[in-house]
Amino acid sequence: MTSKIPVTEIDPATDSPNKNNKPESVDLYASRKKIYVKEVKGFFQKIRKVSLWALMGMYFLFCWVSVDGQPLIYFNLPDREFNLFTATFYPQDFILLSGMLIVAAFGLFFITALFGRIWCGYTCPQTVWTFIFMWVEERIEGSRNKRIKLDKSPNSAEKVTKKSLKHGIWLLIAFATGLTFVGYFYPVRDLSLDLFTFQANGWAYFWVSFFTIATYMNAGWLREQVCLYMCPYARFQSVMFDSDTRTVAYDFNRGEPRGGRKKSASKEELGLGDCIDCGMCVQVCPTGIDIRDGLQYECIGCALCIDACDDVMEKMNYPKGLIRYATENELEGRPSKLLRPRTFGYGAVLVLMVTAMVFTIMTRVPAQMEVLRDRGALYGMTGQGLIENSYTVKLTNKAEVPQTFELKVSGLDTIAILDNEPVRVPSGESRTRPTVVVVAPEAIEQSNNAIQFRAVSQQDKTLVLENESRFVGPDR
Ligand code: SF4
Ligand code: SF4
Repeated sequence: MTSKIPVTEIDPATDSPNKNNKPESVDLYASRKKIYVKEVKGFFQKIRKVSLWALMGMYFLFCWVSVDGQPLIYFNLPDREFNLFTATFYPQDFILLSGMLIVAAFGLFFITALFGRIWCGYTCPQTVWTFIFMWVEERIEGSRNKRIKLDKSPNSAEKVTKKSLKHGIWLLIAFATGLTFVGYFYPVRDLSLDLFTFQANGWAYFWVSFFTIATYMNAGWLREQVCLYMCPYARFQSVMFDSDTRTVAYDFNRGEPRGGRKKSASKEELGLGDCIDCGMCVQVCPTGIDIRDGLQYECIGCALCIDACDDVMEKMNYPKGLIRYATENELEGRPSKLLRPRTFGYGAVLVLMVTAMVFTIMTRVPAQMEVLRDRGALYGMTGQGLIENSYTVKLTNKAEVPQTFELKVSGLDTIAILDNEPVRVPSGESRTRPTVVVVAPEAIEQSNNAIQFRAVSQQDKTLVLENESRFVGPDR
């Protein structure tokens, strides 16, 4: 469906609608032109390949590989635990998770201010999966020209076979991706078994299907449209750019005036710049833009056009780098600065956040104690004439081994815990212990007294948990 709006021409002389012209309709909808990306080899493409395969490998590895029966990364939602490389984090540690997200955000801002959209070009999941899908497409349907020809050709056995094979492999990759994603929240081996034996619950089927379809659509069909129309980062990242941000750029001064020529021809005699107008930089661009038109929000910084142009320059015996990573200042012949207030600010926040995170992790206590005073009664008297107060002590063991805690209490003369048995807490679990504290009446000088609970681990005597509470007695 197309949307049209009437547009009335404005008379520049009067700055009002031109009455002589009838309103025209402008079509607001432009259908997508399929982009046939030409495969290119080169230095930046090698870096991209290493980065993309490494990230893809990590995505599957962290979910499927277990150490001591524990996946390397696992969000155990029912038990409210987060396992990260054999360490277990609990809801109380979620400040660390928030810290990690803030570090990641400032890391992204910092890198963007320095090098533009290298996150998009080399590491973004949309880029990674699109790259894998395009790689499969190229292996099955052939080079750019062959793919264009195949799409234009009428249906034939060969065309149907190639298309079916391509979509079949895409769906398999998408399914592996969806299954693995859900596997970060549901033990992945159990999930696979349950799915194929129809034992999994409906939500498992729903989420695996959802992520399978999302991967297949995003990487197979939507591709650059996700970057152009759906990704919010593409829209706001330009605020982090300045004239010293290094982005993929065409050296206009060196390349223009562009024009075709023979390899043996002298560009000086022809009055031409270095750009031979071959269009290779456009053919390899996954978003279908022409970098020679300047910096555009559609550019994901993948550097494919650099490799394509360097190859052309080499063949023409011209110096490489007509398209290269460069700053606006550099291209204009002005000096370029790496350290400037913007990068310094992002860098400083990043260093502070990383320091705070490392400090928090290093000083993280592998256990926690909470003491809740029973509010049902202020105090009671035992048969021996002692004043008693009741508490609930909750002990959480965040260590990888079970721990047994001895409870102690101090703060008043004669203070003691009745029936004081050590509390054994398995790894990654919590135990609550109803606790009665008694004090001789003559040891109390006021009705409300501060007391201290201590829990000492039998396995690690240096692990001492402390918590303050109140002991209430009769008015004096
Ligand atoms: S690849 Fe290089 S030479 Fe060819 S059109 Fe692009 S900028 Fe010009
Ligand atoms: S212009 Fe195209 S090929 Fe070049 S870096 Fe940008 S997105 Fe990649």
